Amino acid sequence: MVDFKDALIDLLGAEQVIDGDAALTNYAYDWWPVAAKWRNQGKTPLKPDMVARPQTTADVARIVTLANEHHMALTPWGAGSSVTGAPMPLNGGLTLDLSDLNHTLNINETNMTVTVETGKMGYILEAELNELGYTLNHSPQSLDRSTVGGWLSTRATGQFSSKWGGIEELLVGFEVVLADGSVVCYETGPRMAVGPDLRHVFVGAEGTMGVITKVTLQIFRMSEHRIFEAVAFDKLEDGLAVMKEIMQRGLRPFLVRFYNPTEARHAMQDKNFEKCVMFLGFEGMPSLAEAEYQVAKSIWEAYPTDILGPAAVEAWMDRRFDFSTVENILRNPGGLAETIEVGHYWDGIEETYHRLEEALSPYADEVLGHFSHVYPQGTSLYIILLGQCADDAEAEANLLKVWETAMTICLQTGAAISHHHGVGVARKDFVRGALASGMTVLERVKGAMDPENILSPGKLGLDA
Ligand SMILES: Cc1cc2nc3c(=O)[nH]c(=O)nc-3n(C[C@H](O)[C@H](O)[C@H](O)COP(=O)(O)OP(=O)(O)OC[C@H]3O[C@@H](n4cnc5c(N)ncnc54)[C@H](O)[C@@H]3O)c2cc1C
Repeated sequence: MVDFKDALIDLLGAEQVIDGDAALTNYAYDWWPVAAKWRNQGKTPLKPDMVARPQTTADVARIVTLANEHHMALTPWGAGSSVTGAPMPLNGGLTLDLSDLNHTLNINETNMTVTVETGKMGYILEAELNELGYTLNHSPQSLDRSTVGGWLSTRATGQFSSKWGGIEELLVGFEVVLADGSVVCYETGPRMAVGPDLRHVFVGAEGTMGVITKVTLQIFRMSEHRIFEAVAFDKLEDGLAVMKEIMQRGLRPFLVRFYNPTEARHAMQDKNFEKCVMFLGFEGMPSLAEAEYQVAKSIWEAYPTDILGPAAVEAWMDRRFDFSTVENILRNPGGLAETIEVGHYWDGIEETYHRLEEALSPYADEVLGHFSHVYPQGTSLYIILLGQCADDAEAEANLLKVWETAMTICLQTGAAISHHHGVGVARKDFVRGALASGMTVLERVKGAMDPENILSPGKLGLDA
């Protein structure tokens, strides 16, 4: 360890290497609620031994080469907004803080692409694009606290995914540093049929396959017109049927969020609201947005519904990055809050929802649930638990039981154990069950890409 640290300082200079205990503690917690409970208790079970802050791809390549030679574990760090423990090392070693790799390199207005370094914060990139009349149409709730590299590495998605898809659909190409320090570039253009699509070796890899240093993403013109509507339903199954029909008829609202009655009270900001509610948004050229709205209306009018108008959806749009309810509860001694997102086909999602709601209720005062990323084949389900325990130790223990319970139910019902937050530490013990025979492929790819197992060892349920 001492040899490696000395060699790292020789390589980069002392100012780019962090090893003080207090500074390292900043890299011992992401936004996983279990980590929030560790922080409250002063525990640091997943702290790195040192942190390096590369300034260029060449720095990254030299650091990775050195780590490989010394068999040193290396874990990339974007902005630490993961809610599953992904950027924290399982066995110490070196954390690679990529936040200084943050330049926008090119905006190509002919091809509608942007090329950036991967430490770029999402909200800064979006603001730069907006100034020119463009957008990524990628709007995770963490836009103001996450990086482009983190998005790709967790296979993130955003609030407007029903029309614009997840981050994988925006990705055109990238530059990545492999485990032996070699730098590889790969670009598909609009589409390419030259072998397997190698982008997907790195998308969602959570730092296990390489360090992504640059990416080229699609950009879009900002939409001319938006129409919003809130629709109340008596029955959860009616709302699910409407979402299914909207997507299967080929409509693409950019916003679809359907809340169970408990979360509907929060979404409507009305304690007395008793129904399920769906928030919808249509955008594009005015005539097309209006036409999509009218077809969607004809679909929900076949069910008992109340049309509530656009105000509640517009208010949600204004506060859509606010996470303070969860943050405040976690800060409190004994406060318990958790978010678990999963996915399923239309014919499996209701059973998964009801089983999760019932099994997780004993751990929380409120079980909120919404369906917000919708496809012709199925939908995501996002469960939020809010509660209070005797102290942080009990909250930590209960959160771990919540994960065990939720993941077991997903495996039993055939649901995807994560829709977009990824695996991290929270789900690592359930990947083998989820991928089944696919785990063999993942293990062989990892063995070929990183024979010394230095890149984020133990993540994705791989060998630590
Ligand atoms: C309030 C809040 C709201 C959220 N909302 C959403 C949401 O709407 N949608 C969503 O998908 N997620 C959401 N998240 C989760 C989180 O923001 C995402 O997982 C995000 O993509 C992580 O980005 P990051 O830059 O913070 O990465 P980090 O958390 O630092 O790292 C995440 C993983 O990526 C790896 N990594 C980071 N950069 C690189 C790189 N350049 N090369 C290789 N590996 C790398 C890390 O090692 C780690 O495994 C939310 C989180 C919070 C706290």
